[in-house]
Amino acid sequence: MICMNSVLVVGAGPSGLTVAAECRKNGWKTTVIEEHAEIGKPIHCTGIISVDGVKETGLDVESITLNKVVGARIFSPQNEEMTVKRNEPVAYIVERDKLDKLLAQKAIQAGVEIRTETSLLDIRKETVFVQKKGRGEMLKANVIVGADGPFSKTRGIMGVSLPKEKFVHAYQFRVKGHFEKNLVQVHLGSYAKNYFAWVAPENEEMARVGLAVSDGNVRKSFEEFEKKLGFEGEKCDMCSALIPCGEPFREIVKDNIMLVGDAAFQTKATTGGGIITGMMAGKACAKTIDSYFRDKKPLSDYWKNVSGLNKELVLHWKIRKYLNSLSEEKTNDLVSKMKKAEMEEFLSKYGHMDKPSKFIGKIYKSPGILRMLPEAVKFFMS
Ligand SMILES: Cc1cc2nc3c(=O)[nH]c(=O)nc-3n(C[C@H](O)[C@H](O)[C@H](O)COP(=O)(O)OP(=O)(O)OC[C@H]3O[C@@H](n4cnc5c(N)ncnc54)[C@H](O)[C@@H]3O)c2cc1C
Repeated sequence: MICMNSVLVVGAGPSGLTVAAECRKNGWKTTVIEEHAEIGKPIHCTGIISVDGVKETGLDVESITLNKVVGARIFSPQNEEMTVKRNEPVAYIVERDKLDKLLAQKAIQAGVEIRTETSLLDIRKETVFVQKKGRGEMLKANVIVGADGPFSKTRGIMGVSLPKEKFVHAYQFRVKGHFEKNLVQVHLGSYAKNYFAWVAPENEEMARVGLAVSDGNVRKSFEEFEKKLGFEGEKCDMCSALIPCGEPFREIVKDNIMLVGDAAFQTKATTGGGIITGMMAGKACAKTIDSYFRDKKPLSDYWKNVSGLNKELVLHWKIRKYLNSLSEEKTNDLVSKMKKAEMEEFLSKYGHMDKPSKFIGKIYKSPGILRMLPEAVKFFMS
């Protein structure tokens, strides 16, 4: 196939590799640049992805799955527990580096060129200035996609600057101990200000334990959480990274540059999960590029093409804002009321990790929930 047009993707994470594979499959010459030497490393992730999301993206994750979980135990600051679970797995815990490698392999098979140890310096129209091992180079592309994660240099080049309040700081270790294999734990408390702490089991003896905070010293917060849980096991593989936390923003296209994934805040503000949402957005981005090359449709159609995902991301943000508006006392109260309103059963039946619209509508039809949680319901209706 003759490739008249070309795409350059900055960043070989799940979002960028999805855009790249799709663009190449559509017939466009596609190159990915990645600043690190090895795809998938370093790892800044817990690796939890929903079974539904995996189905929707068409991934086959069996070979990279460490564990499958059926739900979560959610603990209030006062340690009241709420359990949401199904009879079958709802999420996979995967080896995140292997996921990126799998996506890279698929992209390469489709004909994408991936250049590692190559970092973006600047973009001037269709010229991309990059650096490889200290040496400058110029690449050419008609469309440039910034899939370069939360810090996104591409976003900066587009002139979009975001304050640090738009991110939370995450800190995680792999910890040895004794863990319940089929449930994730979510802990709400002041040590995880405006976010939460988690325990995600790889198996009975090893878990990914972490938290994220909106401000303050994340290491100290983690130590506090560790003390609360009484972990004494050996720790390894520390990671410390930012997670975008806010609404998806509109400035995701400027001239011939587009943003996708964490770079575009296409991340769930409830949990920080961005693998599936980034891949979904990646497909919408590639579809937009295809219509641009093929039918001369504007790249600004991307906003329209990603509107289904954005609807869900806005709901995630509403839930996050509501939770962050509560004091510790009110959070305790909320968990108690949710239990009384039989939200455990409700969420076990209708809950969806990626699409809150699947269950929020049903809340309005549940008299018990409306009676017990009028404030929360009012918040979502606002
Ligand atoms: C502690 C933690 C736990 C998380 N747990 C989960 C989870 O369980 N489930 C989930 O779904 N999400 C999770 N996330 C979020 C998830 O990791 C991100 O949403 C996801 O990685 C976003 O993918 P991406 O492709 O948009 O960006 P990234 O995966 O960040 O990829 C960006 C790529 O761009 C490269 N890059 C950056 N700058 C340049 C440059 N200038 N030039 C060239 N290359 C560049 C980077 O090296 C990187 O490879 C977690 C995040 C953190 C921090």
